[in-house]
Amino acid sequence: MRNRTLFLLLFLTLPALLLAQTAVKPHPSPMKSKSPNAAAVHQSAIVIDTHADTPQRFLDEHFDLADPLGSGNLNLDSIHQGNLAAEFFSIWVEPALYKGQYAHRTLELIDAVKQQAAKHPDQIEFVTSPEGIEQAHRDQKFAALMGIEGGHSIEDSLALLRQYYALGVRYMTLTWSNSNNWADSSGDIDNTSIPHTKEGLTEFGKDVVYEMNRLGMMIDISHVSDRTFYRTLVITRAPVIASHSSARALCDAPRNMTDDMLRAVANSGGPNSKGGVVDVNFYSAFVSQAYRDADKAQQPEVDKAVADLKARYKAEGKEAPQAEIDKLKRSFADRIPRPPLSMVIDHIDHIVKVAGIDHVGLGSDFDGVDGQLPEGLNSPADLPKITEALMDRGYSADDCRKILGGNLLRVFREVEAVSKELQAENRPRITDKQPFDKPQK
Ligand SMILES: [Zn+2]
Repeated sequence: MRNRTLFLLLFLTLPALLLAQTAVKPHPSPMKSKSPNAAAVHQSAIVIDTHADTPQRFLDEHFDLADPLGSGNLNLDSIHQGNLAAEFFSIWVEPALYKGQYAHRTLELIDAVKQQAAKHPDQIEFVTSPEGIEQAHRDQKFAALMGIEGGHSIEDSLALLRQYYALGVRYMTLTWSNSNNWADSSGDIDNTSIPHTKEGLTEFGKDVVYEMNRLGMMIDISHVSDRTFYRTLVITRAPVIASHSSARALCDAPRNMTDDMLRAVANSGGPNSKGGVVDVNFYSAFVSQAYRDADKAQQPEVDKAVADLKARYKAEGKEAPQAEIDKLKRSFADRIPRPPLSMVIDHIDHIVKVAGIDHVGLGSDFDGVDGQLPEGLNSPADLPKITEALMDRGYSADDCRKILGGNLLRVFREVEAVSKELQAENRPRITDKQPFDKPQK
């Protein structure tokens, strides 16, 4: 009996002892939830995330969604644990590395997403519509969708844009961090050596926006310059999304939205529109000003370390592998304390206050930020914590379901409705060129 008690005592205290030894820094005991039914509310929602960069892992690392997470943020286990219903996988083509082969790389990434659905037909459904998301959810399958991140993928061709739509792409971020020939990016707008448009969009850029409206492809204004943002909002007939941007009032990153921009997204679309949605990015340097400042401060050191690494490889006539560069960057990032998850909730809360409960959603940027995510927010398995934290702050079950995915579904439906209207109207184009014409250089 005594032995058993002793054993039991050891058994119970050993993990705590081990934890005490291995823990790097003391964690405060987690706050007790004030919302006991938060788990049920989360389970009742159709949870949609509008941005994950996993396709590069599929293609370059042969990562399979059924694999363990490894250094990544998203896999089937975590998707099921966190009740994630749908993910918009980002089709992102690195502009310098793939110069001259943007379409080629775009198609390979699209194929990589479809291959995942083909490999796991019992768990993943490739879908292209709001109804598709809902049907997959009813069938207890994870819905995989796609968004293109960066208009350079269309190589100045509306034909390519239409074909990407035909392949199932349902949003396009007009630019990534690089300006293209027809739209400007917040990433290089201050760089005078790069040519920019006069008004945020060229005439061809306006045609792209119009053609996206006509096709029923959501317009994503994350990453664009402020001028491109406003120019796009003036001409779009459908509401827009910011697939992975947070609030600039809380963290001063050009990738985040000012309060005025948040209100503009909420009012985007035609006169009868219910408005767009801003999907909050979890990236620590967009969430926390302190993290951002610390990250910026050590940037010269990071740049030097990366340059040294590249030089070492070059000396051997080789190119430094991206995985190794990422690992190096990550080791620097790990020196900065991660912001608390509550700061993500602060962004959601701020956007609700400024733009309204109908205009905020989730745009994690999982697998796109070198693991620089707030404490306790490492994968979709942690998404129920967001619901719990929202309810702790007084958000109702209905409010939570809107934020978790309902708002995005509403915008997606409206974008499709506008598309039907435009196709029926057969009205003159934004510019005098027809979208079926080749762009004039
Ligand atoms: Zn991005």
